[in-house]
Parts: sequence; structure tokens; C-alpha cells
Amino acid sequence: MLAGAAVAAASLSGAQAQSGESPAAAEPAKAAEPIRVVASFSILGDLVKQIGGPLVAVDLLVGPNVDMHAFQPSPSDSRKFAGAKLVVMNGLGLEGWAERMTKASGYTGPVVIATKGLKALAKPETGHDHDHGHGQGTNDPHAWQSVGNVKLYVANIRDALAAVDPADKAAYVANADAYLAKLDQLDREIRAAFDGVPKDKRQVITAHQAFRYYGAAYGIDFRGAKGVSEESEPSAREIADLIKLIKKEKVRALFVENISNRRLLDRIAQETDAKVGGTLYSDALSDASGPAPTYIEMMRVNTKAIADALRG
Ligand SMILES: [Zn+2]
Repeated sequence: MLAGAAVAAASLSGAQAQSGESPAAAEPAKAAEPIRVVASFSILGDLVKQIGGPLVAVDLLVGPNVDMHAFQPSPSDSRKFAGAKLVVMNGLGLEGWAERMTKASGYTGPVVIATKGLKALAKPETGHDHDHGHGQGTNDPHAWQSVGNVKLYVANIRDALAAVDPADKAAYVANADAYLAKLDQLDREIRAAFDGVPKDKRQVITAHQAFRYYGAAYGIDFRGAKGVSEESEPSAREIADLIKLIKKEKVRALFVENISNRRLLDRIAQETDAKVGGTLYSDALSDASGPAPTYIEMMRVNTKAIADALRG
């Protein structure tokens, strides 16, 4: 299986361009075009690349550092479906617009829902400005914020790739196995990062309520700040309530996200003992030059920011 992955990797890497100089570097039996895959947002796109390697070419509907909630698809986005062999979505109500767009584009191929089979958390009932563009589902869609869940994403994506490209199944399986081992390591790292942080010192407030799966997996109490979202200006009353909550619960850290605005949290931090703990990546990766260009790096960056803040 590993050999399969290596062959696949060699067939489309830059090494191929120089292969003429060595008779040992034989042309692969099948110099196929990469499989075109459309992923709804950057985190899924990274998972597809990890499993598909050079066998896939990924187009994103929502790119790095782009706020999924405020995303407005343009007609030209539907061109990304031309020639696609697979569409990958999160599901759990995240992408109502993308489903409509997929239909409108005339795409008739398979759509894999990466959360298929996952035990979803219900959306928080009150107090959170949470629907902001994530559709009307009853489930919390941010399941990727738990590494355990992403192992299921990987299995679903692997199986979907193998179904559309059975000739390369061994490579997808080998790549997925290697990546799953990295995810296990990541999961251990995250747990270790919070070792020794007392239970009553694990309260965090974030601008948008995207970290409930992370909280459930790793024992952190995330509160969404009511009224603190990118498209609504909170009222004076909401800000006062939030400040009261932070003082009462002795919240240690406030976080902004790469997709939101930090002004308000800065202001709240000035009036409480909580501090603004840096940027968390919730619904989008950074671009390639940023600190979180892959899912694994995103989880590491988030965990370091949260653990540093809680350890104060
Ligand atoms: Zn979100």
C-alpha cells in the first residue's frame, strides 16, 4: 500500500519533469490527470489534499481566511464544478448555499458529506449569535474542531475518492492511514497541552460559537459572546451583560478569530481581568504564508493560544 502511495506521489511531482535523464525513473503506467474535486471550504480542502496528494486537484468554494458566514457566492463560482468528479461538503447545515450552487451548476456527480455518521452536537439554544449564515439546521456544524471527528471526515473522504477513482484506491488508503496516525498524535498533543490546568480555570469566550466540539473533546468551557459577531454591533446592554458574565465566571481569556473583528473584545478586556488571547482559527485556514495553512497546524496554533491563555 505504501508503495502505491509512493508511485502516485512520484507520478505527478516535480521529479517527473526531470525523469528523462534517468531510465530508472520510468513513466508511470497511467499518467492520468488529477481528479478534480470541489470542497466547500478551506479546512475540507486540506483534508482532501492530505488524502489525495497529487492524485487530486482541489477547488475551494470558500477560500482561506474567508468568513464562511458572510460568503456570497458569485455566478462565476459555479464554473468550479466544470469537470469535477467529486464534491465534498461538511453537512450539518453549514452549506445550504453550496448545495443550491451545486445543483444550479448542473453538476450531477457524487457529493460526499464529510460528517456522515457523526454524532452532532445540537446548536446552542439561546444566547449565541450563531446562525449567521450557517443555515437553518438544528445541529452545530463546527464538528472539525475535534480531532476525533476529523478522523471520520478522513474515512468518508477516502472512501469517496476510492469510489470515483478505484484504480488509485491503494494510494488513498495508504495516505489516509498515514494521516490518521498524524491525527492521533495531534489529539495526544492537544490533551497534553491542557494537563494540569484546573477545571475551574478553563473558561474561554470566543466571538463566534465555533468551539463547542473542541470544548467537549478537550474539556474547555467555551462561551459564545452574545452579540459579538462580525455582522452585528452589540448593544450597550449586551456588552454590559458580557462584562458581568466574565467577572462572575472568572473567565480567563477572550479570543477573536481570523474571520472576525477584534475591536469589541479588546474593549471588554480593558474592563475585566480577562485578556485577549490572540487569534483562533475557527471556520477557515490561514493562507499558505500564515500560521495555520493546514488543519493540523490550525489545531496546533489554536491549542497553543488557548493553553497559553489559560495558564496565564
Ligand atoms: Zn461558524
